[in-house]
Parts: sequence; structure tokens; C-alpha cells
Amino acid sequence: MPSLTRSEANRRAALIDVTSVEVDLDLHQGADTFGSTTTISFTCREPGASTFLDLQPHELSSLTLNGERIRPEELVDGRVVLSGLAADNTVVAAATMRYSRDGQGLHRAVDPADGEHYVYGHLFLDAAPTVFACFDQPDLKAPYAVSVTAPEGWQVLGNGGATQVSPGRWELARTHPLATYFVTVCAGPYASVRAEHDGIPLGLHARASLREPLERQAPQMFEVTRACFDYYHGLFGIRYPFGEYHQVFVPEFNAGAMENPGCVTFRDTMVFRGAAARDEVLTRSNTIAHEMAHMWFGDLVTMRWWDDLWLNESFAEYMAHRTCVEATEFTEGWVDSTVARKMWGYAAERTPSTHPVAGGAALDTQAALQDFDGISYAKGAATLRQLIAHIGDDAFIEGVSAYLREHAFGNGTLADFLGFMERASGLDLGGWSRAWLLTAGLDVIAADQESGVVTRRAPAAHPADRPHTLDVAGFTGRQEVFRVPVTALGDTTDSPELKAAPPAHLVVPNASDLTWATVALDADTLAAVPRGLADIPDPQARAVVWAALVDGVCLGTVDPRLVVQTFGAAWPAEDNESVLNRVATAVLGRVVQTFLPPAEQAGAKAVVAQAAQELLSRSEPGSTTAVLAARFLARSSADVGLLRDWAGRQHLPRGLAGDSDFRWLVVRNLAARGLVDPDSIEAVRRDDDTLAGRLGALGARAALPGAEAKEWAWRELTTNRERSNYELNALAGGFWAEDDLDVLRGYVPRYFAEVPSLSAWVGADALGRVATLAFPARVVEQATADASAAALVADGGLTPAVRRSIVDADSELREALRSRRRFDAATA
Ligand SMILES: [Zn+2]
Repeated sequence: MPSLTRSEANRRAALIDVTSVEVDLDLHQGADTFGSTTTISFTCREPGASTFLDLQPHELSSLTLNGERIRPEELVDGRVVLSGLAADNTVVAAATMRYSRDGQGLHRAVDPADGEHYVYGHLFLDAAPTVFACFDQPDLKAPYAVSVTAPEGWQVLGNGGATQVSPGRWELARTHPLATYFVTVCAGPYASVRAEHDGIPLGLHARASLREPLERQAPQMFEVTRACFDYYHGLFGIRYPFGEYHQVFVPEFNAGAMENPGCVTFRDTMVFRGAAARDEVLTRSNTIAHEMAHMWFGDLVTMRWWDDLWLNESFAEYMAHRTCVEATEFTEGWVDSTVARKMWGYAAERTPSTHPVAGGAALDTQAALQDFDGISYAKGAATLRQLIAHIGDDAFIEGVSAYLREHAFGNGTLADFLGFMERASGLDLGGWSRAWLLTAGLDVIAADQESGVVTRRAPAAHPADRPHTLDVAGFTGRQEVFRVPVTALGDTTDSPELKAAPPAHLVVPNASDLTWATVALDADTLAAVPRGLADIPDPQARAVVWAALVDGVCLGTVDPRLVVQTFGAAWPAEDNESVLNRVATAVLGRVVQTFLPPAEQAGAKAVVAQAAQELLSRSEPGSTTAVLAARFLARSSADVGLLRDWAGRQHLPRGLAGDSDFRWLVVRNLAARGLVDPDSIEAVRRDDDTLAGRLGALGARAALPGAEAKEWAWRELTTNRERSNYELNALAGGFWAEDDLDVLRGYVPRYFAEVPSLSAWVGADALGRVATLAFPARVVEQATADASAAALVADGGLTPAVRRSIVDADSELREALRSRRRFDAATA
């Protein structure tokens, strides 16, 4: 299918206005297809002109424009030309459509726990034409009236409040103007918990087999939902406009969540069937706040074209952290942002695919999909924090509120937004926005206490004069010795306050994490970090140091062994769960497995396991910290007796008896060590015959070592077209878990030869994730980098999503190669 270009979208929006859309879906036709009838009313500014309609049916039954029949053969590659337009037009399309298995379009999943079927619409980013006929672009908004026929006993939810008018027949309230990409319908025997807040009907929904955890966790989710509504209403002075507010936890969802007005969809792993760490509840609460922020940023006012994606995502990301801190119990939200989000964004800045926050080209929709990354989210949010530091919070909120009012139910652009910020602040923001929004790149910030100089170095590839508002703090033992604010303009800034401050063992630039920069720690601080990090009393500063260490490893300036050593000393003493979880994930997943040479990996894993054991021993039994510690012990331990005990549900830490997700972590570790076989994995799966259990079994089987097991997993990944998006992720995620490079090496050329062709049956959003997980990141050898370079140069039919995954993974592989060349030689 051709991807809609920006110029096509501009021409179409200049020509037509959509005034209303009626969609009638028949979900009672079996498991493979559904019926879809669409009636679109639209006006045309130049009668006699022509445009095109988007539709990707399994079979088109009939299509009329103003009562005149259009032959089905005129639908080519998802488009049909509508010519001879009148001033007022009606197009009616009736078609049979296909359900998806890749999380894009109208996805249908079967829950093995009870055999029930579930359907949800995820039309982002350009999947609407696979569900109904439309003009699929963000600035042709229209009110929707949706009706649905579904099997009796199902529940139907959507953007407008749903009413069952007769058994199996549902009508959804007509909506305010919506963009095509956030129209949705969810249908199935969903379990529900309902409430109300401030006149807004609320609903939480999940598969029937998740009813018990849904009901148990509903009070916490409702509490956050209510707090967010109150906070946003107070902040923006604009009431939530979309009627009811449903949050639906759906199976096999690609992203974290999607902001469909009135009917937000979430990945249903966020309904925790086992124990939940505080970090996970924080992330879910943050996601609730993020999606609700989109009701204003994205849904009420939508970016005109995808190049202003940041107007959606940067705002939602910023608002979510702010709301967690100011309106919920998760007052550590900014610390979480440092380790969970900014580390992701800094990694994105280091790859060749980095781009400016705003004003990117996004020449077509498939290109735009590649911008849903750490730049548009994490850097955009950090940039907004810098904007607030620059113009003040009152001006920011005043400008935001005026922007939302002015463009309500319509679309906005960067220029519109900046205009409101300039009027509210009285400042010219041209230079500021060029440096922060329109230029890619990550500055390196360093502070020298002795001279009192703060240096700022822009990357050679992306020169820019970014002004930074930050602070520098110094720590000795458990004391914060100083903290001085710095406004860094130009390459060096003299700070008399820093020079005058008493000397400290550890000097931490950007200690409050106000700005967006790589922090380069000075040599004395680096030397003091392994012993001193745990003593820093401020969790935010500790998070900044951890991020600086991991970034330093990636940049080749910090020896990965120093990070492992620091981990062993400081991690077990950490009490912030976001730091515990994210740092351990980065160290175990990336630092140990790719930056260290194979001969040192087992030893480093033992350090992680020992640290996890220490944390488990010192934590209150059954506490969320203990759960987190036990999980990392299960993932890293080489203690076969312990692993076998836990897999057999013996001697489990408190709170983990009957926790099937924990058991799969243990089985996966045993599998990667070759200590279980397919039959014993199958026996565990029979104990947990659920969606999650089947994925756990698939991941464990893919992790089994040996030529035969690898061949099975690879064929399932690359040739079995029945596999869902989540099954492909489980296979790809497990495949490289074992350590035998002699076997794994054979799959390096096969990755480049075979994974790109999955695009014949897997959608771009899903395949981008699979291609990243399946990349041979563990074979850190020049031959892998050469194969990767060759694939990118040949570009033989790489889709934009696969190409992007390879570019980023290749860049990370080269970081590991560079580090090994530098530090392995030094140790040898
Ligand atoms: Zn978002």
C-alpha cells in the first residue's frame, strides 16, 4: 500500500471538509472477517474536482458516490478516486474486512484460558482504512456515529458511550470531531469495573480471565484517574470534552497504550496477575496520566501533520511526570523519568537516526512512524522543562491553555504553539526553538570544581548553541556539600559559586536533572563512584550518576567493569525502585551481555546475582523491593539448586507462591542454560495455560541452546505466518539468550536475509519491534557489523520500520565493539 505523503494530505485537506462519518460494523461473521459499512458526508471547495478515498478491504461489496456506483475494480492499492465532486457529497462503502493478528487495525485475539474472543481497534498510525472507508489523515476530523453488531454476551465500547439497543446490537453516542487514527471499538466478553468522578462515567475493562486482578487493582487505578482529571481540569481550565472515560486493557497490544478519546487502550500486562513492584504501579499510573493528557494534547487539539508529533507526545510525556509528582503518591516521578525515559532518549540521540524534536520532514506516514522514539517523547518532555525554566511556569500554563482553547476540536502546528508561548511570556523564542526544537543532538556537560568552570560541548555532527538551565551538586559521604544553579550559555561558563564551594568527593553536574545532556563525570568523581554512589542522599542525583555511567559505557569513556563494580557495591543499598529496576535491566541486559567479552560475562552476572541476593536478604519479606530483587536473582543466578527449587515452587520468597510470571523468569534462565527440555517447559505451560503462559513457554523454548532448538525457534519466527505479534516478540526475545556463540553466529547472515521479509505479513509497527529483538546484538564481532552495513547499503527492499531497527541496533553494536577495543586491550 502506498504511504500517504504530506503533499497529498495538504491537497486533500485544502479541497474537502468531512462533516460526518457513520460506521456500522458486523463482528458476528466468525473469527476471520467482519462487515463494515461507512457513510461519509463531506463538502468540496471546488465542485467538479476529484480526490481519493482510503479503503483496504478483504472484499469490497459496493461503493457509491452521491448515489452513483463506482466499480470495485477502481479500488487500487487501497485508494479509489472520487471524481466529479459536488459541493456536498456522500460516499457509501460496504465491504468485508479482515481482522489483524499484528495489533494494527481491528485485532482479534483468543484467550486460551477460556477460549473467549476479544476484538479491539488500534487505527494508529494509518490502519483506519483496514476497518472502514475514510480520508485517513490527522487534519480531516469529523464527528463519528458508530454502530456494532456483536455476538450476544459481548460488551461493546468505543469513543462514544455505548448502548445495547437490542440483543447483540449496539449504538455508540455521536462524538465530537475525531481524527481517523484515534477512532476505536473494543468488543468481547470484557470484565468491567465502573465508577464515576465529577460527572464523568468511568470504566476499567479487561479479559474475563483477568477479572480478579482487575477488580483488586481497580481502586488504585481509579484513584489515579480521578487525581489526573482534577489536576488537568485545574491546570488547563478546560473540561474533559469526550463524555465517558473508559480504560480498556487489551491483549497483544504493540505500544504501552493509545489515547483514543473516551476509550483508551492499554497493553493488558498492566493488569498484574502476579506480584507488582512499585516501579510497575508507577509506570502504569504514569501511563494513565500520559493518555489522559492526550485528551487535550492530541485529541482536542491534534497536530496538523505528523511532523508535529511532539505536540502530542512531548506534552503527554511531560504532563504525565508532572502529574505523578504533583497529584499522586508517586512523588519520585522525575527520578523515574531519568532512568526510565531519559536514558532511552539519550540512546536515541547517539544513533544516526536521531532527529530534531520538531519540524522533521515526515514526508509520508510510514516515515512519521519512525519518529515515535526517545526523541519525540523523552527529549521533547525535557525540552518543555527547559522552556518552563526559560519563560516561567505561569506563562507556560497560560500559553498552553490559550492554545488549547483557540484550536479546540481542530489542529495546531509548532508555529501556532510558539506564538501563544511568546504572547504569554513576552519573549522572542525564535533562537530558543531553533536550538532546542529544530536541531538534533545531545550536548556533553562537565563541571570542574577547582576552576569553577562548566563546559558544554555540542556534538560535531549537530552543532547548536543550546542554553542550559541546570545545577551542580557536590557530595562527600552522606552529606550534600553544595548545590549551585548554573545557566550555561556558550561553550564555557564561569561559576564563581562553584569555585567558592567547599570541595566534595563527588561532583554531579545536572544533579536535579533539569536539562537534556550527557553528564561527563570528572576523573576524581569516577574513581570515587563505586564506594560513594550509595551514600549520595538525593535519589535524583543518584539517578543522574547511574545515567552518566551507562551513557559513558556507551560512549566508550567509562569502562564497563567500573559499572559492574559500582553495581555490586551501590545497587543493593538503593531504595528507589525505579533506579533498582531500570539500572539492573540496563546492566544485566546491555552492559554485561554486549560490552563485556564472553569470557567475563558469567563473572559479571554473578556480581548481579550476588547484589540481588543481598537486596533480597535486606528487604522486608513480601515487600515490592523483595519481589524486584527476587526477579533479578531469578534472571541472573547460576545456582541450579535454587533455580530448580523455584521452578518446582519450593522455598519461594514470600509473595511469589503461585506467581506464574515469576516462574517463567526462572524457567527461562534454566532453559538458556540447557537445564530443561521442551517437555518440561510444556508441563509448566499446562499449569499456566493463558496468553502469558504460552508466551513464557515460547520464550523459554526459543532460549534453549543447541543447533536443533535454535533451528526450531528460528523457523517459527521467520516462517510461521500464524504467529501473533506477541508470539514473534517472545521468540525473538528468547532466541539470543543462550551463550554458545558458535551456534548463534550462524544466524547473523540469516537475520539480514530472512527477518526483513516478514514485512509480507507483519505490519510495520509490530515488525519494527520484532526486528529489534531479533537483531544479533549478542554476537559482538566485526563480521556482524559488516553484515549489518552491507544490508543497509544494499537496502534490498528494507521497509522503513525494519531499516530503522537495523540502523539503531547496528549503532549500539558498534558502541560495544568500540568499547571492547578500547578497554579489553587495556585489561589484556
Ligand atoms: Zn502518547
